[in-house]
Amino acid sequence: MSSSISVKIPSQVISCQNFVNGKFVNGSGEKIQVVSPYNGKPIGEFFSTTSAEVNLAASAAASAQKLWADVPMKERTKVMFNFRNILLRDLEEIAHLKSAESGKNLDEGRAGLMKGVEVLEFAIALQNLDLGGRVEVSRGVSCEYRREAVGVVANITPFNFPAMVPMWTIPIALTLGNAYIWKPSEKTPLTSLKIASALKEAGLPDGLFQVLQGTKETVEAIIDNPNVKAIGFVGSTKIAKAIYDRGTQLGKRVLALGGAKNHIVLLPDANPDMAGVGISDSFTGCAGQRCMAASVLLVVGERKDTEKHIEKIIARASSLKLGMDMGAIITKAQVKFLHEAITSAEKAGAKILLDGRGAVAPAGMEEGNWIGPTILDDIQPGSEAAKVELFGPIISIIRCPDITHAMEIENSVEYGNACSVFTSNGALAEKVIKMASTGMVGVNVGVPVPREPFSFGGINASKFGHGDITGIHSLDFWSNIKKVTVKWEKQNDNNWMS
Ligand code: NAD
Repeated sequence: MSSSISVKIPSQVISCQNFVNGKFVNGSGEKIQVVSPYNGKPIGEFFSTTSAEVNLAASAAASAQKLWADVPMKERTKVMFNFRNILLRDLEEIAHLKSAESGKNLDEGRAGLMKGVEVLEFAIALQNLDLGGRVEVSRGVSCEYRREAVGVVANITPFNFPAMVPMWTIPIALTLGNAYIWKPSEKTPLTSLKIASALKEAGLPDGLFQVLQGTKETVEAIIDNPNVKAIGFVGSTKIAKAIYDRGTQLGKRVLALGGAKNHIVLLPDANPDMAGVGISDSFTGCAGQRCMAASVLLVVGERKDTEKHIEKIIARASSLKLGMDMGAIITKAQVKFLHEAITSAEKAGAKILLDGRGAVAPAGMEEGNWIGPTILDDIQPGSEAAKVELFGPIISIIRCPDITHAMEIENSVEYGNACSVFTSNGALAEKVIKMASTGMVGVNVGVPVPREPFSFGGINASKFGHGDITGIHSLDFWSNIKKVTVKWEKQNDNNWMS
Protein backbone atom coordinates (compact mmCIF):
# COMPACT_ATOMS: atom_id res chain seq x y z
CA MET A 1 0.00 0.00 0.00
CA SER A 2 1.30 3.45 -0.85
CA SER A 3 1.79 6.07 1.89
CA SER A 4 0.93 9.76 1.89
CA ILE A 5 3.26 12.74 2.30
CA SER A 6 3.74 15.26 5.08
CA VAL A 7 4.88 18.21 2.95
CA LYS A 8 2.60 20.80 1.33
CA ILE A 9 3.61 21.22 -2.32
CA PRO A 10 2.90 24.71 -3.76
CA SER A 11 -0.10 24.48 -6.09
CA GLN A 12 1.04 27.44 -8.21
CA VAL A 13 4.32 28.27 -9.91
CA ILE A 14 6.25 30.72 -7.72
CA SER A 15 8.31 33.44 -9.38
CA CYS A 16 11.78 33.16 -7.82
CA GLN A 17 13.09 36.65 -8.39
CA ASN A 18 16.41 38.15 -7.48
CA PHE A 19 16.55 40.27 -4.34
CA VAL A 20 18.59 43.39 -5.09
CA ASN A 21 18.75 46.60 -3.07
CA GLY A 22 15.84 45.47 -0.91
CA LYS A 23 13.50 44.73 -3.83
CA PHE A 24 12.45 41.60 -5.70
CA VAL A 25 13.31 41.97 -9.40
CA ASN A 26 13.58 39.62 -12.37
CA GLY A 27 16.89 38.76 -13.97
CA SER A 28 16.95 39.05 -17.74
CA GLY A 29 18.78 35.85 -18.66
CA GLU A 30 17.59 32.34 -19.48
CA LYS A 31 14.26 31.17 -18.02
CA ILE A 32 14.68 28.17 -15.71
CA GLN A 33 11.94 25.97 -14.29
CA VAL A 34 11.95 24.52 -10.78
CA VAL A 35 10.31 21.11 -10.35
CA SER A 36 9.29 19.45 -7.09
CA PRO A 37 10.98 16.07 -6.56
CA TYR A 38 7.77 14.97 -4.82
CA ASN A 39 5.44 15.07 -7.82
CA GLY A 40 7.54 16.14 -10.82
CA LYS A 41 5.39 19.26 -11.27
CA PRO A 42 6.69 22.82 -11.80
CA ILE A 43 6.58 24.83 -8.57
CA GLY A 44 8.84 27.72 -9.50
CA GLU A 45 10.63 29.58 -12.25
CA PHE A 46 13.19 32.34 -12.61
CA PHE A 47 15.22 34.30 -15.14
CA SER A 48 18.98 33.91 -14.67
CA THR A 49 21.08 36.87 -13.62
CA THR A 50 23.30 38.22 -16.40
CA SER A 51 26.86 39.36 -15.74
CA ALA A 52 25.80 43.02 -16.17
CA GLU A 53 23.15 42.49 -13.48
CA VAL A 54 25.71 40.79 -11.22
CA ASN A 55 28.00 43.80 -11.60
CA LEU A 56 25.24 46.28 -10.70
CA ALA A 57 24.26 44.24 -7.64
CA ALA A 58 27.88 43.93 -6.50
CA SER A 59 28.59 47.65 -6.77
CA ALA A 60 25.39 48.46 -4.84
CA ALA A 61 26.51 45.94 -2.21
CA ALA A 62 29.92 47.61 -2.00
CA SER A 63 28.32 51.04 -1.34
CA ALA A 64 25.97 49.62 1.31
CA GLN A 65 28.81 47.72 2.97
CA LYS A 66 30.88 50.88 3.59
CA LEU A 67 28.07 52.27 5.77
CA TRP A 68 27.36 48.91 7.45
CA ALA A 69 31.00 48.49 8.49
CA ASP A 70 30.69 51.72 10.51
CA VAL A 71 27.64 50.46 12.40
CA PRO A 72 28.78 49.10 15.80
CA MET A 73 28.51 45.33 16.04
CA LYS A 74 25.99 45.57 18.86
CA GLU A 75 23.65 47.45 16.51
CA ARG A 76 24.22 45.01 13.64
CA THR A 77 23.39 42.22 16.06
CA LYS A 78 19.94 43.72 16.76
CA VAL A 79 19.02 43.03 13.12
CA MET A 80 20.19 39.42 13.52
CA PHE A 81 18.11 39.06 16.68
CA ASN A 82 14.99 40.21 14.76
CA PHE A 83 15.96 37.87 11.90
CA ARG A 84 16.01 34.94 14.32
CA ASN A 85 12.54 35.73 15.66
CA ILE A 86 11.09 36.04 12.15
CA LEU A 87 12.57 32.70 11.06
CA LEU A 88 11.14 31.00 14.13
CA ARG A 89 7.74 32.63 13.55
CA ASP A 90 7.75 31.40 9.93
CA LEU A 91 9.42 28.05 10.63
CA GLU A 92 6.53 25.85 9.42
CA GLU A 93 5.98 27.79 6.20
CA ILE A 94 9.69 27.76 5.35
CA ALA A 95 10.06 24.07 6.29
CA HIS A 96 7.25 23.11 3.88
CA LEU A 97 8.68 25.25 1.08
CA LYS A 98 12.26 24.01 1.36
CA SER A 99 11.07 20.41 1.62
CA ALA A 100 8.83 20.79 -1.43
CA GLU A 101 11.73 21.98 -3.57
CA SER A 102 14.50 19.72 -2.23
CA GLY A 103 12.59 16.49 -1.53
CA LYS A 104 13.15 16.46 2.25
CA ASN A 105 10.50 15.18 4.61
CA LEU A 106 8.94 17.76 6.91
CA ASP A 107 11.03 16.93 10.00
CA GLU A 108 14.20 17.31 7.92
CA GLY A 109 12.87 20.59 6.56
CA ARG A 110 12.36 21.89 10.10
CA ALA A 111 15.71 20.53 11.36
CA GLY A 112 17.73 22.19 8.59
CA LEU A 113 16.26 25.57 9.43
CA MET A 114 16.81 25.04 13.17
CA LYS A 115 20.47 24.27 12.52
CA GLY A 116 20.60 27.56 10.61
CA VAL A 117 19.01 29.31 13.59
CA GLU A 118 21.74 27.81 15.79
CA VAL A 119 24.37 29.51 13.61
CA LEU A 120 22.36 32.70 13.90
CA GLU A 121 22.47 32.42 17.69
CA PHE A 122 26.26 31.96 17.47
CA ALA A 123 26.48 35.11 15.33
CA ILE A 124 24.37 37.02 17.86
CA ALA A 125 26.89 35.98 20.53
CA LEU A 126 29.86 37.38 18.56
CA GLN A 127 29.31 40.78 20.18
CA ASN A 128 30.25 39.21 23.53
CA LEU A 129 33.29 37.28 22.30
CA ASP A 130 36.84 38.59 22.22
CA LEU A 131 37.04 40.04 18.74
CA GLY A 132 40.20 42.02 19.29
CA GLY A 133 42.98 42.54 21.81
CA ARG A 134 45.54 45.06 23.00
CA VAL A 135 48.85 44.63 24.84
CA GLU A 136 51.41 47.20 25.96
CA VAL A 137 54.44 45.70 24.23
CA SER A 138 56.98 48.26 25.36
CA ARG A 139 56.95 51.42 27.46
CA GLY A 140 54.35 53.69 25.86
CA VAL A 141 53.84 51.40 22.88
CA SER A 142 50.81 49.20 22.40
CA CYS A 143 49.98 46.62 19.80
CA GLU A 144 46.37 45.90 19.02
CA TYR A 145 44.42 43.77 16.62
CA ARG A 146 40.98 44.56 15.32
CA ARG A 147 38.59 42.36 13.42
CA GLU A 148 37.22 44.15 10.38
CA ALA A 149 34.86 43.21 7.57
CA VAL A 150 36.26 41.87 4.31
CA GLY A 151 33.80 43.89 2.18
CA VAL A 152 31.45 42.19 -0.25
CA VAL A 153 31.45 38.42 0.15
CA ALA A 154 29.62 35.79 -1.88
CA ASN A 155 28.29 32.32 -1.29
CA ILE A 156 27.18 29.67 -3.78
CA THR A 157 25.09 26.85 -2.37
CA PRO A 158 23.84 23.35 -3.31
CA PHE A 159 20.29 22.00 -3.67
CA ASN A 160 20.30 19.64 -0.72
CA PHE A 161 20.13 22.18 2.13
CA PRO A 162 18.26 25.21 0.78
CA ALA A 163 18.29 27.01 4.16
CA MET A 164 20.90 25.36 6.41
CA VAL A 165 23.96 25.68 4.16
CA PRO A 166 23.38 29.37 3.35
CA MET A 167 22.59 29.98 7.02
CA TRP A 168 26.03 28.54 7.92
CA THR A 169 27.45 31.80 6.62
CA ILE A 170 24.80 34.55 6.21
CA PRO A 171 24.50 35.52 9.92
CA ILE A 172 28.24 35.36 10.59
CA ALA A 173 29.29 37.30 7.48
CA LEU A 174 26.67 40.03 7.99
CA THR A 175 27.32 40.39 11.72
CA LEU A 176 31.02 40.86 11.00
CA GLY A 177 30.11 43.85 8.79
CA ASN A 178 30.17 42.39 5.29
CA ALA A 179 27.66 42.69 2.46
CA TYR A 180 26.55 39.28 1.19
CA ILE A 181 25.73 37.99 -2.30
CA TRP A 182 24.00 34.63 -2.42
CA LYS A 183 23.59 32.42 -5.47
CA PRO A 184 21.20 29.60 -4.43
CA SER A 185 21.02 26.31 -6.32
CA GLU A 186 18.96 26.63 -9.49
CA LYS A 187 17.11 23.50 -8.33
CA THR A 188 16.02 25.05 -4.99
CA PRO A 189 15.65 28.83 -5.25
CA LEU A 190 12.26 29.14 -3.47
CA THR A 191 13.64 29.26 0.08
CA SER A 192 15.85 32.24 -0.77
CA LEU A 193 12.71 34.40 -1.16
CA LYS A 194 11.76 33.75 2.45
CA ILE A 195 15.25 34.39 3.80
CA ALA A 196 15.52 37.66 1.87
CA SER A 197 12.08 38.82 3.07
CA ALA A 198 12.96 37.91 6.65
CA LEU A 199 16.18 39.96 6.54
CA LYS A 200 14.30 42.94 5.06
CA GLU A 201 11.64 42.71 7.76
CA ALA A 202 14.37 42.39 10.40
CA GLY A 203 15.67 45.82 9.39
CA LEU A 204 18.76 44.97 7.36
CA PRO A 205 19.63 48.02 5.23
CA ASP A 206 19.06 47.60 1.48
CA GLY A 207 21.96 46.37 -0.64
CA LEU A 208 23.64 44.33 2.10
CA PHE A 209 21.94 41.09 1.11
CA GLN A 210 21.62 40.41 -2.61
CA VAL A 211 20.16 37.16 -3.94
CA LEU A 212 21.12 36.42 -7.54
CA GLN A 213 19.46 33.42 -9.19
CA GLY A 214 21.28 31.58 -11.94
CA THR A 215 23.69 28.88 -12.97
CA LYS A 216 27.33 28.67 -14.14
CA GLU A 217 27.43 32.05 -15.92
CA THR A 218 26.02 33.89 -12.91
CA VAL A 219 28.50 32.14 -10.61
CA GLU A 220 31.44 33.03 -12.82
CA ALA A 221 30.35 36.68 -13.03
CA ILE A 222 30.14 36.79 -9.21
CA ILE A 223 33.62 35.31 -8.79
CA ASP A 224 35.12 37.63 -11.40
CA ASN A 225 33.55 40.81 -10.04
CA PRO A 226 36.29 42.95 -8.46
CA ASN A 227 34.02 44.08 -5.61
CA VAL A 228 33.62 40.48 -4.42
CA LYS A 229 36.51 39.83 -2.05
CA ALA A 230 35.73 36.42 -0.53
CA ILE A 231 33.87 33.42 -1.96
CA GLY A 232 32.29 30.55 -0.08
CA PHE A 233 31.05 27.54 -2.03
CA VAL A 234 29.32 24.30 -1.07
CA GLY A 235 28.56 21.64 -3.67
CA SER A 236 30.13 18.78 -5.58
CA THR A 237 33.90 18.29 -5.64
CA LYS A 238 34.28 18.91 -9.37
CA ILE A 239 32.63 22.34 -9.16
CA ALA A 240 34.26 23.16 -5.80
CA LYS A 241 37.69 22.67 -7.36
CA ALA A 242 36.76 24.80 -10.42
CA ILE A 243 35.44 27.62 -8.18
CA TYR A 244 38.52 27.45 -5.97
CA ASP A 245 40.87 27.61 -8.98
CA ARG A 246 39.00 30.49 -10.62
CA GLY A 247 38.78 32.58 -7.44
CA THR A 248 42.33 32.02 -6.23
CA GLN A 249 43.74 32.78 -9.68
CA LEU A 250 42.19 36.22 -9.20
CA GLY A 251 43.92 36.45 -5.82
CA LYS A 252 40.69 36.05 -3.83
CA ARG A 253 40.15 34.04 -0.70
CA VAL A 254 37.99 31.00 -1.46
CA LEU A 255 36.70 28.23 0.72
CA ALA A 256 34.98 25.58 -1.39
CA LEU A 257 33.38 22.55 0.26
CA GLY A 258 32.97 19.52 -1.98
CA GLY A 259 31.41 16.08 -2.05
CA ALA A 260 31.93 13.10 0.24
CA LYS A 261 32.02 9.34 0.64
CA ASN A 262 31.57 8.75 4.36
CA HIS A 263 32.41 5.54 6.22
CA ILE A 264 31.04 3.96 9.36
CA VAL A 265 33.16 1.36 11.14
CA LEU A 266 30.94 -1.19 12.89
CA LEU A 267 32.65 -3.24 15.61
CA PRO A 268 31.09 -6.42 17.08
CA ASP A 269 30.92 -4.89 20.58
CA ALA A 270 28.66 -2.02 19.46
CA ASN A 271 25.26 -1.63 21.10
CA PRO A 272 22.99 -3.20 18.42
CA ASP A 273 20.08 -0.83 19.09
CA MET A 274 22.25 2.28 18.85
CA ALA A 275 24.01 0.98 15.77
CA GLY A 276 20.79 -0.14 14.07
CA VAL A 277 19.14 3.26 14.37
CA GLY A 278 22.29 5.38 13.98
CA ILE A 279 23.52 3.64 10.83
CA SER A 280 20.12 3.31 9.17
CA ASP A 281 19.23 6.96 9.83
CA SER A 282 22.62 8.07 8.56
CA PHE A 283 22.26 6.58 5.08
CA THR A 284 18.51 7.13 4.69
CA GLY A 285 18.20 10.65 6.21
CA CYS A 286 17.42 13.23 3.48
CA ALA A 287 17.21 10.13 1.23
CA GLY A 288 21.01 9.93 1.43
CA GLN A 289 21.37 13.38 -0.16
CA ARG A 290 23.64 14.94 2.41
CA CYS A 291 27.37 15.31 2.48
CA MET A 292 27.47 13.66 5.93
CA ALA A 293 25.43 10.57 4.99
CA ALA A 294 27.04 7.19 5.62
CA SER A 295 27.82 5.56 2.31
CA VAL A 296 30.15 2.67 3.20
CA LEU A 297 29.75 0.39 6.22
CA LEU A 298 33.03 -1.26 7.21
CA VAL A 299 31.94 -4.30 9.23
CA VAL A 300 34.83 -5.62 11.30
CA GLY A 301 35.11 -9.19 12.60
CA GLU A 302 33.34 -12.51 12.13
CA ARG A 303 29.96 -12.46 10.36
CA LYS A 304 28.31 -14.33 13.23
CA ASP A 305 29.33 -11.54 15.64
CA THR A 306 27.82 -8.73 13.58
CA GLU A 307 24.70 -10.31 12.05
CA LYS A 308 22.46 -8.99 14.83
CA HIS A 309 23.61 -5.44 14.05
CA ILE A 310 22.96 -5.85 10.32
CA GLU A 311 19.49 -7.25 11.06
CA LYS A 312 18.65 -4.15 13.13
CA ILE A 313 19.83 -1.85 10.33
CA ILE A 314 17.69 -3.73 7.79
CA ALA A 315 14.67 -3.70 10.12
CA ARG A 316 14.90 0.04 10.70
CA ALA A 317 15.54 0.96 7.05
CA SER A 318 12.79 -1.29 5.71
CA SER A 319 10.23 0.21 8.11
CA LEU A 320 10.58 3.71 6.58
CA LYS A 321 7.55 5.04 4.71
CA LEU A 322 8.38 7.02 1.58
CA GLY A 323 7.06 10.57 1.73
CA MET A 324 6.69 10.53 5.53
CA ASP A 325 9.94 9.08 6.94
CA MET A 326 12.08 9.40 3.85
CA GLY A 327 11.79 12.03 1.14
CA ALA A 328 12.36 12.12 -2.60
CA ILE A 329 15.41 12.27 -4.88
CA ILE A 330 16.20 15.60 -6.49
CA THR A 331 15.87 14.60 -10.19
CA LYS A 332 14.72 11.71 -12.35
CA ALA A 333 18.24 11.53 -13.80
CA GLN A 334 19.61 10.95 -10.29
CA VAL A 335 17.09 8.14 -9.65
CA LYS A 336 18.25 6.52 -12.90
CA PHE A 337 21.90 6.88 -11.83
CA LEU A 338 21.13 5.22 -8.47
CA HIS A 339 19.30 2.32 -10.17
CA GLU A 340 22.27 1.80 -12.46
CA ALA A 341 24.72 1.90 -9.55
CA ILE A 342 22.74 -0.83 -7.72
CA THR A 343 22.50 -2.96 -10.85
CA SER A 344 26.20 -2.69 -11.60
CA ALA A 345 27.11 -3.58 -7.98
CA GLU A 346 24.80 -6.60 -8.27
CA LYS A 347 26.49 -7.67 -11.51
CA ALA A 348 29.88 -7.35 -9.79
CA GLY A 349 28.78 -9.87 -7.15
CA ALA A 350 27.15 -7.77 -4.42
CA LYS A 351 24.40 -9.36 -2.35
CA ILE A 352 21.35 -7.08 -2.07
CA LEU A 353 20.05 -7.21 1.50
CA LEU A 354 17.46 -4.50 0.90
CA ASP A 355 16.45 -3.32 -2.58
CA GLY A 356 14.95 0.15 -3.05
CA ARG A 357 14.44 -0.16 -6.79
CA GLY A 358 10.87 -1.41 -6.54
CA ALA A 359 9.76 1.28 -4.10
CA VAL A 360 6.13 2.38 -4.39
CA ALA A 361 5.59 6.16 -4.62
CA PRO A 362 3.33 7.79 -2.03
CA ALA A 363 -0.28 8.17 -3.20
CA GLY A 364 -0.65 10.96 -5.75
CA MET A 365 3.14 11.38 -6.06
CA GLU A 366 3.68 8.80 -8.81
CA GLU A 367 5.38 11.36 -11.07
CA GLY A 368 7.97 12.15 -8.37
CA ASN A 369 11.49 10.78 -7.96
CA TRP A 370 11.44 7.81 -5.59
CA ILE A 371 13.77 5.05 -4.52
CA GLY A 372 13.75 3.09 -1.28
CA PRO A 373 16.61 2.36 1.16
CA THR A 374 19.12 -0.07 -0.34
CA ILE A 375 21.74 -2.18 1.45
CA LEU A 376 24.47 -3.83 -0.63
CA ASP A 377 26.64 -6.51 0.98
CA ASP A 378 30.03 -7.95 0.01
CA ILE A 379 31.12 -4.85 -1.88
CA GLN A 380 34.72 -4.90 -3.06
CA PRO A 381 37.06 -2.06 -2.02
CA GLY A 382 37.86 0.10 -5.03
CA SER A 383 34.56 -0.65 -6.82
CA GLU A 384 32.08 2.10 -7.81
CA ALA A 385 29.84 1.41 -4.79
CA ALA A 386 32.90 1.70 -2.53
CA LYS A 387 34.46 4.86 -3.95
CA VAL A 388 31.98 7.02 -5.89
CA GLU A 389 29.67 9.49 -4.15
CA LEU A 390 26.25 8.04 -5.06
CA PHE A 391 24.14 10.61 -3.17
CA GLY A 392 21.14 8.41 -2.50
CA PRO A 393 19.82 6.09 0.25
CA ILE A 394 22.32 3.32 -0.49
CA ILE A 395 24.89 1.81 1.87
CA SER A 396 27.66 -0.51 0.73
CA ILE A 397 28.89 -3.09 3.24
CA ILE A 398 32.54 -4.09 3.03
CA ARG A 399 33.62 -6.95 5.31
CA CYS A 400 36.96 -6.36 7.07
CA PRO A 401 39.07 -8.70 9.22
CA ASP A 402 40.28 -5.93 11.56
CA ILE A 403 40.28 -2.16 12.22
CA THR A 404 43.60 -1.59 10.43
CA HIS A 405 42.21 -3.14 7.26
CA ALA A 406 38.99 -1.10 7.61
CA MET A 407 40.89 2.16 8.04
CA GLU A 408 43.11 1.42 5.04
CA ILE A 409 39.92 1.28 2.97
CA GLU A 410 38.63 4.50 4.55
CA ASN A 411 41.95 6.25 3.89
CA SER A 412 42.01 5.12 0.24
CA VAL A 413 38.95 7.19 -0.73
CA GLU A 414 39.66 10.67 -2.15
CA TYR A 415 37.13 12.49 0.05
CA GLY A 416 37.46 13.44 3.72
CA ASN A 417 34.24 14.68 5.28
CA ALA A 418 33.15 12.21 7.95
CA CYS A 419 33.90 8.85 9.52
CA SER A 420 32.09 7.26 12.47
CA VAL A 421 32.65 4.23 14.63
CA PHE A 422 30.06 2.21 16.55
CA THR A 423 31.66 0.45 19.52
CA SER A 424 31.52 0.25 23.31
CA ASN A 425 35.32 0.24 23.59
CA GLY A 426 36.91 3.66 24.15
CA ALA A 427 40.40 2.58 23.10
CA LEU A 428 39.15 1.18 19.79
CA ALA A 429 37.10 4.34 19.20
CA GLU A 430 40.22 6.40 19.81
CA LYS A 431 42.11 4.30 17.26
CA VAL A 432 39.47 5.09 14.61
CA ILE A 433 39.46 8.80 15.55
CA LYS A 434 43.24 8.94 15.06
CA MET A 435 43.32 6.90 11.84
CA ALA A 436 40.35 8.54 10.08
CA SER A 437 41.31 10.63 7.09
CA THR A 438 38.41 13.06 7.59
CA GLY A 439 37.68 16.47 9.08
CA MET A 440 34.82 15.16 11.25
CA VAL A 441 34.61 11.94 13.26
CA GLY A 442 31.74 10.42 15.25
CA VAL A 443 31.60 7.84 18.02
CA ASN A 444 28.24 6.03 18.13
CA VAL A 445 26.85 8.95 16.10
CA GLY A 446 25.85 8.25 12.50
CA VAL A 447 25.92 11.85 11.27
CA PRO A 448 28.77 13.56 13.15
CA VAL A 449 27.87 17.16 12.29
CA PRO A 450 29.50 19.46 14.87
CA ARG A 451 27.07 21.81 16.61
CA GLU A 452 27.81 25.50 17.15
CA PRO A 453 30.22 26.93 18.10
CA PHE A 454 32.27 24.07 16.64
CA SER A 455 33.05 24.48 12.97
CA PHE A 456 31.92 22.20 10.16
CA GLY A 457 34.31 21.03 7.47
CA GLY A 458 36.16 18.16 5.87
CA ILE A 459 39.61 17.69 4.38
CA ASN A 460 41.06 16.14 1.19
CA ALA A 461 38.71 16.41 -1.82
CA SER A 462 35.87 17.49 0.48
CA LYS A 463 37.34 20.96 0.95
CA PHE A 464 39.49 23.33 -1.10
CA GLY A 465 41.00 26.20 0.85
CA HIS A 466 42.13 26.76 4.40
CA GLY A 467 40.04 27.24 7.54
CA ASP A 468 36.34 26.64 8.06
CA ILE A 469 33.22 28.14 6.55
CA THR A 470 31.13 28.30 9.73
CA GLY A 471 31.49 28.28 13.51
CA ILE A 472 34.33 29.70 15.53
CA HIS A 473 37.02 28.90 12.97
CA SER A 474 35.18 30.76 10.22
CA LEU A 475 35.74 34.19 11.76
CA ASP A 476 39.13 34.60 10.08
CA PHE A 477 37.61 33.75 6.69
CA TRP A 478 34.75 36.27 6.92
CA SER A 479 36.90 39.07 8.39
CA ASN A 480 40.32 40.70 8.20
CA ILE A 481 42.60 41.21 11.16
CA LYS A 482 44.06 44.68 11.33
CA LYS A 483 47.22 45.02 13.43
CA VAL A 484 47.71 48.46 15.00
CA THR A 485 50.85 49.67 16.79
CA VAL A 486 50.45 52.95 18.74
CA LYS A 487 52.74 55.37 20.56
CA TRP A 488 51.50 58.70 21.93
CA GLU A 489 54.52 60.07 23.82
CA LYS A 490 58.26 60.02 23.38
CA GLN A 491 59.78 57.83 26.08
CA ASN A 492 62.99 58.83 27.89
CA ASP A 493 64.27 55.32 28.52
CA ASN A 494 64.53 54.41 24.84
CA ASN A 495 64.95 50.79 23.91
CA TRP A 496 64.95 49.17 20.46
CA MET A 497 61.16 49.23 20.32
CA SER A 498 60.41 52.71 21.64
P1 NAD B 1 26.60 21.21 -7.56
O1 NAD B 1 28.08 21.24 -7.44
O2 NAD B 1 26.00 20.65 -8.79
O3 NAD B 1 26.01 22.70 -7.41
C1 NAD B 1 26.38 23.53 -6.35
C2 NAD B 1 26.26 24.98 -6.79
O4 NAD B 1 27.19 25.21 -7.86
C3 NAD B 1 24.89 25.36 -7.32
O5 NAD B 1 24.56 26.65 -6.87
C4 NAD B 1 25.07 25.35 -8.84
O6 NAD B 1 24.23 26.26 -9.51
C5 NAD B 1 26.52 25.77 -8.98
N1 NAD B 1 27.15 25.22 -10.19
C6 NAD B 1 26.87 24.04 -10.79
N2 NAD B 1 27.69 23.85 -11.85
C7 NAD B 1 28.50 24.93 -11.91
C8 NAD B 1 29.58 25.31 -12.76
N3 NAD B 1 29.96 24.54 -13.79
N4 NAD B 1 30.21 26.48 -12.51
C9 NAD B 1 29.83 27.26 -11.48
N5 NAD B 1 28.82 26.95 -10.64
C10 NAD B 1 28.16 25.80 -10.84
O7 NAD B 1 26.06 20.43 -6.25
P2 NAD B 1 24.58 19.97 -5.92
O8 NAD B 1 24.21 18.83 -6.79
O9 NAD B 1 23.67 21.14 -5.86
O10 NAD B 1 24.76 19.46 -4.41
C11 NAD B 1 25.18 18.15 -4.08
C12 NAD B 1 26.66 18.10 -3.84
O11 NAD B 1 27.02 19.03 -2.83
C13 NAD B 1 27.13 16.75 -3.32
O12 NAD B 1 28.34 16.43 -3.93
C14 NAD B 1 27.30 16.99 -1.83
O13 NAD B 1 28.22 16.10 -1.20
C15 NAD B 1 27.80 18.38 -1.83
N6 NAD B 1 27.61 19.01 -0.53
C16 NAD B 1 28.70 19.21 0.23
C17 NAD B 1 28.57 19.76 1.48
C18 NAD B 1 29.76 19.96 2.36
O14 NAD B 1 29.61 20.57 3.39
N7 NAD B 1 30.93 19.47 2.00
C19 NAD B 1 27.29 20.14 1.95
C20 NAD B 1 26.19 19.95 1.12
C21 NAD B 1 26.36 19.37 -0.13
